[in-house]
Amino acid sequence: MDRRQFLAAATAAYAASGITAVKPAGASAPRSDLAGVCDIHLHAAPDSKARSLSEYDMAQEAKAAGYRAVLFKSNDFSCHDRAYLLRQAVPGIELFGSIVLNRATGATLNTYAVEKALATTGNLCRTVWMPTLDAEYAVRTFKQNTPFIRVSDGNGKLLPETLHIMELCAQADVAFATGHSSPTESLLMAQAAHDMGFKKCIITHPNALIWKMSPAQLERAASLGAWIEFCYLGRFWGEDSAMPTYPRQSLQEATEILRVAPERTFITTDLGQVGMPRPVAGMRQARNELLKAGFSAACLKSMLSDTPAYLIGLEK
Ligand SMILES: [Zn+2]
Repeated sequence: MDRRQFLAAATAAYAASGITAVKPAGASAPRSDLAGVCDIHLHAAPDSKARSLSEYDMAQEAKAAGYRAVLFKSNDFSCHDRAYLLRQAVPGIELFGSIVLNRATGATLNTYAVEKALATTGNLCRTVWMPTLDAEYAVRTFKQNTPFIRVSDGNGKLLPETLHIMELCAQADVAFATGHSSPTESLLMAQAAHDMGFKKCIITHPNALIWKMSPAQLERAASLGAWIEFCYLGRFWGEDSAMPTYPRQSLQEATEILRVAPERTFITTDLGQVGMPRPVAGMRQARNELLKAGFSAACLKSMLSDTPAYLIGLEK
């Protein structure tokens, strides 16, 4: 299949999926450039690292900007349970949490932690992330001298626990994210999701650093029905930022990646780090510069609102 045939097939599959039918609930809410946005990857306090704002502040800022939803991520602790309380403090916006299977949940992949997260009051755990900071691939690549958690056997086979967690997500219709697994492992997960008919496998930021995928790998992921999370954080890194050790991703590279399979791609900020732009400001910059770069308002609505809404289970 050549690139054009692939895109045509992917577009047809997307139309057939009915995703375009998902409309923001806030159609009658005050119009804003960020109306209907769903940012489903960002970090706020309380957390095991200092953060630039609290979940409460983020909820209020997002609501004021017209967002439809926010999904919080902590690398170590649950945030789906407190989302239940946060919703009572900040009504009028969809607030969710997630669970990341780092070492705080156990020395190996803890399927029981997933079962309990998915059973928690409110059903607000809408993404299960494979290990991130404690992922084998990340720990080995960055030569950290710390214990790690495996998701595959190192010989091209996913661990049974990885597959079991994907099955739990499929049963609960909750998104499964590849975390900081290697591109090879992430493609194995996309293949496994495809084989079991699971439709919500997210490739976590394959636009960033050691997780970067080639266009061919991105096309492969999309053709397997996986979703590509483009995290905008990389556009804010760089010498003049609070995260100077990582190079800033050029707008040109960003747009090239976003154009590989836009109908399978969505944008998150992954912001919340101290000294970095606040998530709403980051999302606004993303939208503005992509509009200038030639992405249509409809395409950005798909990547900022409709696709992430679908992934976290929001109905029209
Ligand atoms: Zn993150």
